[in-house]
Amino acid sequence: MNAPLRLRLDTHALIANWRTLDRMSGAAACGAAIKANGYGLGATDVARHLTTAGCRDFFVATWAEAERLAPLRLPLSVLHGVREEDMPAALSGIARPVLNTDQQVARWKAAGGGACDVMVDTGMNRLGVSPDAVRAGLLDGLAIETLMSHLACADEDSAMNAAQLAAFGTLRGVTGARRMSLANSAGIALGEGYAFDLTRPGLALYGGIPRGAFADVIRQVVSPEAQILQRRTVRAGDTVGYNATWTAPRDTEVAILNLGYADGYLRGFSDCGSAERGRLPVIGRVSMDLIALDVSATPAVAEGDWVGIDFALPDAAAKSGLSQYELLTGMGARYERIFV
Ligand SMILES: *Cc1c(COP(=O)(O)O)cnc(C)c1O
Repeated sequence: MNAPLRLRLDTHALIANWRTLDRMSGAAACGAAIKANGYGLGATDVARHLTTAGCRDFFVATWAEAERLAPLRLPLSVLHGVREEDMPAALSGIARPVLNTDQQVARWKAAGGGACDVMVDTGMNRLGVSPDAVRAGLLDGLAIETLMSHLACADEDSAMNAAQLAAFGTLRGVTGARRMSLANSAGIALGEGYAFDLTRPGLALYGGIPRGAFADVIRQVVSPEAQILQRRTVRAGDTVGYNATWTAPRDTEVAILNLGYADGYLRGFSDCGSAERGRLPVIGRVSMDLIALDVSATPAVAEGDWVGIDFALPDAAAKSGLSQYELLTGMGARYERIFV
C-alpha cells in the first residue's frame, strides 16, 4: 500500500509488557483486552503475538469484533454479553459471552448456551448483575468459566478500590465459577490481592502508564511516523496554517507532514506536539490531514523523509489533554501498521 503514514509497532515491547504484567499478576493468569481493534494497534496481530507469548484469555467488547477474530480460534470473551440479535453468533461458539444483566442470564439459560462468563457490579454502576442477586441464586444452573467485576478507580488511590475488592471477595465460593477476575492494567499494580485467578490488562500492554508503578517497567509500543510532503522557508512575519495562529518570529524552516486530526492526532497537539524527541515542534493548528513542524534544528530533512512523532503516552496525554486510551484508540484507519 505504501501509505505516507505508518505506525511502527514494537513486537518485543508488546510481548515484554505482557510478560511484565503476567509476572506482576503473581499466581493469576494474565489475559489481554483487545477490544477496539486491539486499542488501535490491530487486534489480529496483537492476538497472534500475545498467543505466542503464552496469553490464553482475550477480551473484546462486541460480537462483530469476535467475528473478525474467529479465524484465529482464540479463547475469547465478549464483554458486552448477548443481546437477542447476538444469539446466533454467540451460539456458534466463537467466544463466550460475559453476561451482564438478569435478562442476559435468562436468555443464555433459555438457549442452553453452555460455558459463559458473568460480570458482577461492585460499585461502578456500569455493566453487571448485582451481588445480592448472585447470592439469591440468579446464576444457578449456569456453567460459569469466569466471574468478573471491574474497578472504577484503579488508576487512583481511592477508597473505592478496597471497597470493590471486599465486595467482590465475598462472592468467592458463592457461584460455581471456575475462576474470578477483577484487575485491569491499573488494578494489577494495586497488589496481588487484586489479581484473583485472572487479570485483564489492556492499556499497559500497549505502552500506557496508568499508575506510577508501571513507569519504569512498561515499554512504549506505538510510534507514529509520517512522511514530509513539502519543506519550505517561512519568512519572518508570515504565518502557518488555518487561522494563521502561528507567526514566524524569524525566517523559519518548516516541514509539512502527512498526519492530522483525522488520524487521531487531534487539535490538542496544535503548537505543543513534537517530533524526533522534542527537537521538531508542531507549529500552528493541526489540520485534518496535515501538520507543520519547525525543522530549523535539522537542516538536512527533506521532502519524502520520514519523521518520528513523539508519542510516549503519558507525555502525549499531558500535552494534548487526551487520555492515553483516547490517544491509542483514536489512531484511525489511514496508518499502515507495521510490527517490527
Ligand atoms: C477495557 C477493559 C479492561 C482493560 O482495561 P485497561 O484499563 O485498558 O487495562 C478490563 N476489563 C474490562 C471489563 C474492560 O472493559
